[in-house]
Amino acid sequence: MADRTMPPLVLFNSLSRQPEAFRPIDPADVRVYTCGPTVYADQHVGNMRAFLFADTLVRTLRARAAAEGWGRVRHVINITDVGHLTSDADAGDDKMERAAASQGRSIWDLAARYTADFRRDVARLGIAEPSIWAVATDHIAEMVDFAAAIAPAHCYTLPGGLYFDTGTVPDYGRLARAGTDGNGGGDGESRIDAVVGKRHPQDFAIWRISAPGEDRQMEWDSPWGRGAPGWHLECSVMSRQYLGSPFDIHTGGIDHREIHHPNEIAQNQARCGCADPGATFWLHNNFLVQRDGTDTGKMSKSSGAITTLQSLVDRGIHPLGYRLMCLQAHYRSELEFSWSGLVAALTRLRRLVQAVEGLRSRPGGESIADAGVYREQLDAAMAEDLNTPRALTALESMLADERVAPAARIAALADFDAVLGLNLGTLAREDLRIRPATATIDVPAIAGRLADRRKARGAKDFARSDAIRNDLHAAGIEVMDGDPLGWDWRLA
Ligand code: AMP
Ligand code: ZN
Repeated sequence: MADRTMPPLVLFNSLSRQPEAFRPIDPADVRVYTCGPTVYADQHVGNMRAFLFADTLVRTLRARAAAEGWGRVRHVINITDVGHLTSDADAGDDKMERAAASQGRSIWDLAARYTADFRRDVARLGIAEPSIWAVATDHIAEMVDFAAAIAPAHCYTLPGGLYFDTGTVPDYGRLARAGTDGNGGGDGESRIDAVVGKRHPQDFAIWRISAPGEDRQMEWDSPWGRGAPGWHLECSVMSRQYLGSPFDIHTGGIDHREIHHPNEIAQNQARCGCADPGATFWLHNNFLVQRDGTDTGKMSKSSGAITTLQSLVDRGIHPLGYRLMCLQAHYRSELEFSWSGLVAALTRLRRLVQAVEGLRSRPGGESIADAGVYREQLDAAMAEDLNTPRALTALESMLADERVAPAARIAALADFDAVLGLNLGTLAREDLRIRPATATIDVPAIAGRLADRRKARGAKDFARSDAIRNDLHAAGIEVMDGDPLGWDWRLA
């Protein structure tokens, strides 16, 4: 909205471990890069938290563009379909090759399937499509060119491939160490397996040469031998190709602050021959964690104990219920995953939908107060390092403010939807009713049984009405007589 003036956007920059006022390098072209998924397995809801966070950031930038006089906001997300090893720290097997071998499938099929599933989940969560999906294997030639350009001054070869000499760039690992005493923050060194001949333990492979006899499905020729790129290379290459160097904001999960992003920065510095890290702001979301017995730990694909968005849907939970659960926590805080927390978020979403339907059912009315104050609360909350919990409170206060005419509240809702992505402008009650995969009855049948029950009650046939209630209960449906929100059934 052009007529909105906004407080300056402050974002917590991992480079300084401080909140900093955000100013784009080129206001005509605001540029964001997000490290994308490795597509060897299903994405779990923890991974999706990272993309929900990036989406909230991009939505916030777009909502401010007019007020700030910015032009377009471009967002690139990559798809990692090669190079990511089982250890982030440059050791182990290629995750894609290993998964394909164990399933006896072509690696390309595997990547296609998990990419499609990921993009389906992106859509279901209301995450805006990025301006560009950048697929790693579509950029091998550019990766070889990048590596060739930095090799003479920054790399050395070992039998295993071309290695980056981290001693050749200024202040290697600053991103990992920032805000600590310089030792404790860790640059992931302890997690790095020794490779004979490396000059420094943190040195990493830029190009990995296939071992004699190694049977790789994905490999390409290069000046250093036939093989595959190291994982960190793709993000330096694709961010530079699509967004230029330097660009504005680089995002990822907090695990990337330790190894992947310091290595990207080192490559970026080598490529530009300067100390610039390649992006002005580096933003990291904290983990979705789950309690496992007595321990609470990061949800991770390799642990096997993961929850997918599809498994939420199978239990009858709308994906936007998960989005709301994420918005209830600040992105830099850990968020504990629990089914009870998820159900509570879904109930909150239902109340929001209910409130909007109530407003729609009574148009007209006059305002004795302006919705502008709530827009200001929204803008102030988001300007404060994307404070989504506060933005949600502003949304609820706005919907409940009887001094503002229903139509004016509906109009203000669009601004909240633009930033929070809850789609309340169009989401209907029926949409929130998802039939669980195990349900033995479908929605029209439930409606039919409830109509029969109303008839029975009308005829004072309470035995029949109770019998219908019991039947529905057996099918997993709880009848809700006199629900204050006006729902007539829910999943038991
Ligand atoms: P990956 O496919 O493992 O490269 O992860 C994709 C994105 O999800 C990265 O930005 C990770 O940092 C992020 N991520 C992985 N696990 C979690 C988690 N449990 N909570 C939040 N973000 C995560
Ligand atoms: Zn990356």
